[in-house]
Amino acid sequence: MTVWKRGPGTGPHPPWKVILLDRDGVVIRDRGYLGDPGGVELIPGAAAALRRAHEAGWYLCGLSNQSGLGRGLFTLGDLAAVMQRMEDLLAADGAVFDAFHYCPHAPGEGCECRKPQPGLVREAGLLEGLDHRSWMVGDKLSDVETGLRLGIGAILVRTGYGETSLQAVRDRWSTNPPFAVVDDLPAAIGLILGAGETDA
Ligand SMILES: [Mg+2]
Ligand SMILES: [Zn+2]
Repeated sequence: MTVWKRGPGTGPHPPWKVILLDRDGVVIRDRGYLGDPGGVELIPGAAAALRRAHEAGWYLCGLSNQSGLGRGLFTLGDLAAVMQRMEDLLAADGAVFDAFHYCPHAPGEGCECRKPQPGLVREAGLLEGLDHRSWMVGDKLSDVETGLRLGIGAILVRTGYGETSLQAVRDRWSTNPPFAVVDDLPAAIGLILGAGETDA
């Protein structure tokens, strides 16, 4: 489901510059089924990093599994309040998402939008022709798996669930995972912007 999308016709421009971002544990602290806007706290440096990426021309699209809805732990209104609080905090630092999409289902519902499935990316209108120079940033394997399945760059951050995810990463890929591992969102954005520079 779409929380917001900025105006008709807004889309990545140029089309390959897309950064898909998980929310909890990446942009804000992972509080676990957060339904209270008072619990919204930005990851340090997240707003400045997103602003930099936006200024560099990247299209920022949030993709979030919000199974707390499907589990009945909070309401759509709660989620909207949390999202508004996050948007306000980001805007205070000049940062803005271009679009934000979330899966409202519980894991057992068999939906097609819960990451690592591509449903949210399709809903965002980004699935067809998504350039491999795009990126997915998250703190769980389901996030990096989303990026890997799309054939784009994937980055695991150590914030949020990241350190726990790293245990599974080592079990599965030893010391050579097919994605980058960095400290946090500012480091991820730094990597993305740096990769763009060497590309050019
Ligand atoms: Mg997360
Ligand atoms: Zn879903």
